[in-house]
Amino acid sequence: MTPRLPLLAPTALLLTLAVPGCLCGGDGVNSGDLNLLSLDDEWALGEELATEIATQLPMVEDPVVQAYVDRMGRALAAQTEMAARPWRFHVVADPAVNAFAIPGGHVYVNAGLIGAAENAAELASVVGHEVGHGVARHATERMVKAYGVQLVAALVLGEDAGPLEQIATALVGEGLLARFSRTDEREADELGLRYLSDAGYAPEAMAGMFETLLTLRQRRPVLFERWFQTHPLTEDRVAWAEEAARALPDGLLTDPDFARVRQRVAPYAAEALSAR
Ligand code: ZN
Repeated sequence: MTPRLPLLAPTALLLTLAVPGCLCGGDGVNSGDLNLLSLDDEWALGEELATEIATQLPMVEDPVVQAYVDRMGRALAAQTEMAARPWRFHVVADPAVNAFAIPGGHVYVNAGLIGAAENAAELASVVGHEVGHGVARHATERMVKAYGVQLVAALVLGEDAGPLEQIATALVGEGLLARFSRTDEREADELGLRYLSDAGYAPEAMAGMFETLLTLRQRRPVLFERWFQTHPLTEDRVAWAEEAARALPDGLLTDPDFARVRQRVAPYAAEALSAR
């Protein structure tokens, strides 16, 4: 085992990392301090965080499921201005319905989300939304606001492993990604819908996924606690997705492999599947 550097106590971490005035919201994407962190740095940081997260979260290690989510994720990422970068898609062995993106092109999809989706396009609408967060650098912006650009840049250089572990915990736990603004959410929806449609999926699936989530939530609220914290689902959001999809060309609702993949995640997503 590789020896770990001692962790900073949480209080010490806060004292070390807190940057006065840094938690204010309302900046646009790529503004302020975020410009000081290059995309190359951000993607290097993503690799380090993903390595750390792999020690914290159980992953679905089924090559068929992984290949399917990779193929879907890459088809969506190929529609973005960051298509040339090495996006990575991870399937978490967690029955809760959730997905999130960390800096540097790493997107995490829970097994419960695959179990909840009605069809491939609904799943792709969520993956596309997370890719949208990645392209807009929302998680990176949150990290820089919360911890300051110096600390984030030091993480890229691997100068101190303690904060890396704690920040990875904050990313996958309740903290750092739980407070995206509605502006960020709308931006991720707009980008995600564009990628969904450009990748050939049915654009109405985004609103369809929202409806699916609202229905399943009534049947199994416990599976959705985190989801609805991080992705507030307002009537406005559903109405926007329905309206915006009408202006886009028709696409595919599903593919021949989706049902099989959903079946293969059943051991990790039994509750979501039985709620359907
Ligand atoms: Zn979001």
